Amino acid sequence: MEKDLDLAYEICMSYKDGFPCEMCGKCCRQPNIVVRPEEVDRIAKAAGVSLHDFITKYLTTTPDGRLLFYRTDPCAFLDDENRCRIWSDRPEICRDFPYAVSMFMSRVYIALTDERADIIEMIGYMDESWPCTTVIKSTISEKIRETRQAKTDDSNDIR
Ligand code: SF4
Ligand code: SF4
Repeated sequence: MEKDLDLAYEICMSYKDGFPCEMCGKCCRQPNIVVRPEEVDRIAKAAGVSLHDFITKYLTTTPDGRLLFYRTDPCAFLDDENRCRIWSDRPEICRDFPYAVSMFMSRVYIALTDERADIIEMIGYMDESWPCTTVIKSTISEKIRETRQAKTDDSNDIR
């Protein structure tokens, strides 16, 4: 199981280098932008507001205690040219979107461990019209196929 988790992680992170972001800003118009507690101070400073103002005006708390950006359509930090005003201090989820987000990784893991699983079906939630997810959708099946094959080859070598 651990090896499959590592493989799923490797597949997802393979999108990191040369990631096809075209700065369309569509992901900056989505709900659920999570801010981790340890990021709050840094982002408040980047936003140029006091900690108190940041927490009360820019964040909201879910019933299970997570912190989210209050304004998300668009995000309060997206400028008129689709650029992030806090780019170097943006939340981790913004840095990782969409290739290293747990929702995607968990589906890649399932696709690696269950040959009946259809990765394209499982990532149906990814919008067809976004530049980044279009690239992922057109390449992920082959990456899964190659990794499954490598796993089979490895286990045959061991026998
Ligand atoms: S939706 Fe994708 S391509 Fe568009 S800005 Fe976000 S990460 Fe970049
Ligand atoms: S913090 Fe920046 S990258 Fe993240 S959603 Fe807002 S504008 Fe987009």
